[in-house]
Amino acid sequence: MNFELSKGQREIQERAAEFADREVATHAAEWDREARFPAEVFEKLAQAGFMGLCVPEEYGGAGANFLSYVLLLEEISRADAGVGVTLAVHTSAGTLPILDYGTEEQRARWVPELARGERIGCFALTEPTTGSDTASIETRAERVDGGYRLSGHKQWVTNGRAAGTMVVFARAPEGVTAFVVGVDEDGISFGKHAEKMGVLSATTDDVILEDVFVREEDRLGVEGKGLRVALGTLDGGRIGIAAQAVGIAEAAFRYAARYASERTTFGKPIAEHQTIAFKLAEMQTKIRAARLLTHEAAWMKDQGMPHGEAGARAKLFASVAANEVTYDAVQVLGGQGYMKDHPVERYYRDARVTEIYEGTSEMQRLVLSRSIMRDLSAPGGILGSRPVVG
Ligand SMILES: Cc1cc2nc3c(=O)[nH]c(=O)nc-3n(C[C@H](O)[C@H](O)[C@H](O)COP(=O)(O)OP(=O)(O)OC[C@H]3O[C@@H](n4cnc5c(N)ncnc54)[C@H](O)[C@@H]3O)c2cc1C
Repeated sequence: MNFELSKGQREIQERAAEFADREVATHAAEWDREARFPAEVFEKLAQAGFMGLCVPEEYGGAGANFLSYVLLLEEISRADAGVGVTLAVHTSAGTLPILDYGTEEQRARWVPELARGERIGCFALTEPTTGSDTASIETRAERVDGGYRLSGHKQWVTNGRAAGTMVVFARAPEGVTAFVVGVDEDGISFGKHAEKMGVLSATTDDVILEDVFVREEDRLGVEGKGLRVALGTLDGGRIGIAAQAVGIAEAAFRYAARYASERTTFGKPIAEHQTIAFKLAEMQTKIRAARLLTHEAAWMKDQGMPHGEAGARAKLFASVAANEVTYDAVQVLGGQGYMKDHPVERYYRDARVTEIYEGTSEMQRLVLSRSIMRDLSAPGGILGSRPVVG
């Protein structure tokens, strides 16, 4: 067993951390206050090769593996969770499904611009009437000469207004089907811009589709097999959200630990009061455990192993941990923690959504508990609880 990152991964981690501190963390409070999508930072991420980090070089990416991308997401999210989710959705949900399920023509047509950051990707599955229950989507894909016409309402599309390319799901005659479309196509408009609790530097928009023509060649995979594309994409996407949660928690922990070493009450730093000291120990332990689960899931994906359950476990644990750690960080700062003068108030709001998007915590528990039941009835017992490594 080897827990060390490779030299290349450490270099990416260091470059990502340095970028996050210089270009993102310094502006995060302002973007949050103004609820502004910072387009300029994505140009810089593109210049750094971070908009297609885990995309093969032949398609315009940097050719690193998924674990390296997870390291990047943690660092960026540590600085600003809104920028983190924008990058996560652009990559895992807006770019990788085209690589994983697309034809060679589709990869060549769509991926290089995404990987170079010339277009931002988005993923439109959720609708006003359905989120967790993905099979119930109502957006229609009517068959017409040469392709399809899409009509419907997609809700809360991360990157919506800022995106150039959309992976979108609609119900065709054979069932739910995935498509790739340019967001500038006739018939696409934006509805409500979501006013959120957190991740305010990310843009979240409703997308209205009115008779949008999509060429047959832009259907992703087989007609009727779109749920496979959606759920397979989310298997990887969840690992990214787990990394985002770890990044937010790490930021909160670092800030709280420093504050606890400086703030004195009753003649000593609050870090020397056992209640605060033990809180810090718990926070750090949760973060380390969440990171290990996240790295394990990313490693499994890189090995080509099934990673749906590992990703569900990582997301479940990391998002709950992020909520607990940011809650505790506010508590460590006392009244100051409740004020916008300190970033822990923002971390606390940002952490909340990690238990909701790309599958709620309840849906992760459902995936995992069903797998436990399957394993229980299989010969050999609860295989899912055996550690993957060792
Ligand atoms: C900021 C933000 C950004 C988002 N970005 C995107 C995006 O880019 N693209 C996209 O397609 N979607 C996006 N979403 C949507 C997100 O994925 C959904 O909100 C999420 O999947 C939950 O769906 P829902 O909100 O419809 O909740 P519902 O499905 O209505 O669930 C409501 C509650 O019931 C629980 N529940 C539902 N079914 C069950 C069950 N069978 N067993 C137990 N509990 C259950 C849920 O866990 C939840 O607690 C975004 C959401 C937010 C908040």
